[in-house]
Amino acid sequence: MTSSPRILSIAGSDSGGGAGIQADIRTITNLGGHAMTAITAVTAQNSAGVSAVDVMTPDLVLAQIWAVMDDFGADAIKIGMLGSPEIINAVAGFLKSVGSIPIILDPVMVATSGASLADDRTIASFAKIIPNVTLVTPNLDEMERLGGVSAISGYNVPFLLKGGHDQGDILTDRLIDSDGEQARWQAERIDTRHDHGTGCTLSAAIATYLALGRDLQQAISVARDYVRDSLRAAPGLGEGRGPMGVPKR
Ligand code: PLP
Repeated sequence: MTSSPRILSIAGSDSGGGAGIQADIRTITNLGGHAMTAITAVTAQNSAGVSAVDVMTPDLVLAQIWAVMDDFGADAIKIGMLGSPEIINAVAGFLKSVGSIPIILDPVMVATSGASLADDRTIASFAKIIPNVTLVTPNLDEMERLGGVSAISGYNVPFLLKGGHDQGDILTDRLIDSDGEQARWQAERIDTRHDHGTGCTLSAAIATYLALGRDLQQAISVARDYVRDSLRAAPGLGEGRGPMGVPKR
């Protein structure tokens, strides 16, 4: 490992800078890593919604990945919006050639504003990529679309089931693998509408902390703290679900 861990984010661009590649670069950089990117899709987006999406070709995604891997290498990989079944196939093939570095998959399906970022064929293709990752970080809705909590037993991969979309004042995140629940974290809800990019920031922070040498449960704990600090540091931009801020480190 280098003193500045190299993190590759394979994800979509959010023109509003709240989520996606922009959130990943901000998070990885703020935590002391070197951020590298393979952009899968470009979204035209602000706090109110997504007005356009264009998906890259699988060849272009792979070209970005290999340009980075052949020269710099990576200490961890974070995967966010994948955009199409064809890109999932390409990335799944690449992951089979990766050694033992941590790979965090945020199974992005819907933007915070409610716009769809993955169609049914893309969601069905997640099953091809999940067996090759270190951790999957679905929210409650994404877990349902992946087959529900019972589907986790079919994968030899831990899932961090995020409770942020749940009701109530106390929210629970649970780390579950095929042997059942391994850990849980509970915290009071932070009452804010500036929560765009929470999933991206969490998965990028987990990847960075793993690359810095933390074990999985420690990395999740400190990454959760980082997201909560980012929520509290939100600059208050936009009329809708605005971006989070950059906490002091
Ligand atoms: N990736 C992209 C490109 C997005 O635009 C979004 C949401 O708008 C996401 C991922 C997921 O966002 P969040 O971290 O809020 O779940």
